[in-house]
Amino acid sequence: MTLVRVPPPLEQDVDLSKTYDAVIVGSGAAGGMAAHVLTSQGMDVLMLEAGKKLPIEQELRSMQWPYDHPRRGDAPPGYHSLSFNEYTIRTPPYAKGSTFKHVMSYVGGWGGSDYVKNILVDEKDHPYTGTKYAWVRARALGGKTNIWGRLALRLSDYDFKAKTHDGYGEDWPISYADIEPYYDKVDLYLGISGVKENLPHLPDSLFQRPNKLTFGEVKLRESLKKMGRVLTPYRAGVTTDGLKHNRYRSKCYGRGACDRRPGGCDIHAAFDSPTGLIYPAMDTGHLTIRTNSIAHEVLVDRNTGKARGVAFLDSGTRKSYEAKAKVVIVAASTLESARLLLLSRSSQHPNGIGNSSGHVGHNFCEHVMGPGVTGLVKELVGKPPTLDDGRPGGFYIPRFRNLKDRQPGFVRGYGFEGGGGFSIFPGNAFGTPGFGAQFKKEVRDHAGAFIGMGGFGEVLARYENYVDLDPDQKDAWGVPVLRFHYQFGDNERKMCEDMVAAGREMFEAAGIEVVGTDDKILTEGWSIHELGTSRMGSDPKTSVLNQFQQSHDVKNLFVVDGSSHVSASCQNPTWTIMALAWRSCEYLAGEFKKGNL
Ligand SMILES: Cc1cc2nc3c(=O)[nH]c(=O)nc-3n(C[C@H](O)[C@H](O)[C@H](O)COP(=O)(O)OP(=O)(O)OC[C@H]3O[C@@H](n4cnc5c(N)ncnc54)[C@H](O)[C@@H]3O)c2cc1C
Ligand code: SF4
Repeated sequence: MTLVRVPPPLEQDVDLSKTYDAVIVGSGAAGGMAAHVLTSQGMDVLMLEAGKKLPIEQELRSMQWPYDHPRRGDAPPGYHSLSFNEYTIRTPPYAKGSTFKHVMSYVGGWGGSDYVKNILVDEKDHPYTGTKYAWVRARALGGKTNIWGRLALRLSDYDFKAKTHDGYGEDWPISYADIEPYYDKVDLYLGISGVKENLPHLPDSLFQRPNKLTFGEVKLRESLKKMGRVLTPYRAGVTTDGLKHNRYRSKCYGRGACDRRPGGCDIHAAFDSPTGLIYPAMDTGHLTIRTNSIAHEVLVDRNTGKARGVAFLDSGTRKSYEAKAKVVIVAASTLESARLLLLSRSSQHPNGIGNSSGHVGHNFCEHVMGPGVTGLVKELVGKPPTLDDGRPGGFYIPRFRNLKDRQPGFVRGYGFEGGGGFSIFPGNAFGTPGFGAQFKKEVRDHAGAFIGMGGFGEVLARYENYVDLDPDQKDAWGVPVLRFHYQFGDNERKMCEDMVAAGREMFEAAGIEVVGTDDKILTEGWSIHELGTSRMGSDPKTSVLNQFQQSHDVKNLFVVDGSSHVSASCQNPTWTIMALAWRSCEYLAGEFKKGNL
């Protein structure tokens, strides 16, 4: 069942003889935002998206109960999701030699692979090489926003001016004051739920109604106050009060499908790029979309060295085409954008377009995760069930390390994502011994009493962590693939040790019995927060983009996704990606009107 009543706008014919004002590559958070801002400024825009336009409500089926599905949500035979062990024991390409017909990233294995099997890429067609990396990609209109986890956080000057704070890395060429008005615009246009906490290191948004915390979460929040730490309801990129200006989205009915990982919301209360940004942009009459279009080169005008359009392959017919435009906007997601820039070699740009600094692909960073703690709230054992999971998220504990203090083992910080209470499936059932009536009683009695949380820490941006093009391996369309040269360092390992100790300490202080800790660091890439392969900066020798995500080398080329991030922060990136893209595209439109591009 779906509550969506308004059909999306019809796709228009694509006129490739026309020169568009701008062509955007990618339709996720970044590409969608670029389309929204540029079309609202009256620019004629063509969007190229490599993936399909899916009947997304039929894919997500958020109201389907596990017992309504013939395989409890699993994909049909022939599909396989990569496991932690496979990522650890082997190196990419992970699908090589697999006997399965289709191989997906680990996200497909979260319980619900049938709902994402057409959204995630098939690793058989999309290989990559090099060091171990759990690369999660979504090729469909809307990209990863169709299934994202919704935690929507702002960065602060602890991030933008991190070098000034602790001496490591580089400061961003902007400060919080530059981006704050754009965070506000994103909040109001897309909707976000949460509670104000007045923290300098996690600025508040313009929130709609928050999630309710469960008993165990409130207990932890109260205890953390005494430690000078904060537990706040999950800041979800979800409209809980509704958005009068958007007819494609509904307000959250708290149906809890968010809890079925991977999520996806078929009434679009959770933000996704198509209903939040792209369909409204199509309604302006200024946006044309071509799906199944794999961009493989930014084309260059031989006389001026400027970008003149994008070469792409039709994913179905494999025919090659060119889209002409006055401005090119790359928004294919951090790693795919780096790939596209590196693929775009010409006599004017022999190392790839926009890469005179040699920094494209470098300073690649993300979040490290894995360590966590599980606790039992004993007061809740044997209590009647409550509806706890009908909400788009649990809680967030913002960073508390290296703000005023200096930790001996590591710089920067981490936050915790967590939740407690009843969930759609009682996770404790697997670990509870016994059988029969006694087993069922035991599972039921304890089902709502668990609380758990896991850390997300900043991975330092390092020049030596990078991607380049593999000289031999190609994807199913004959396009060279990425090769990873990337691994966590000592700072990340020390930070992860601290996550386990701090998690345990916080639970114990709250009187929550620690029943399990996890100190395993998950494979590089697991956080799905890849950032920083074309960083911004003021110096064209050490950065790729200026503060408006505009190439230092090619003034009509912009890269508006997470590639531009100078450091990863420990806060989830998507809200920042969109605020920055809004700011840059507003600047772009102004320069375009003045004839400066
Ligand atoms: C399961 C999951 C949970 C997540 N949870 C969170 C969270 O809680 N909070 C958070 O902030 N972030 C989260 N993220 C990350 C978030 O989804 C991304 O930060 C965000 O989608 C990035 O937007 P993007 O536009 O850069 O990339 P994407 O959303 O990936 O979009 C890029 C688009 O470009 C297309 N593309 C790629 N290459 C080409 C090409 N050559 N030609 C044409 N098109 C191309 C792709 O098909 C895709 O549609 C999560 C992601 C996943 C998968
Ligand atoms: S809880 Fe809200 S956001 Fe999540 S799937 Fe349900 S309606 Fe959508």
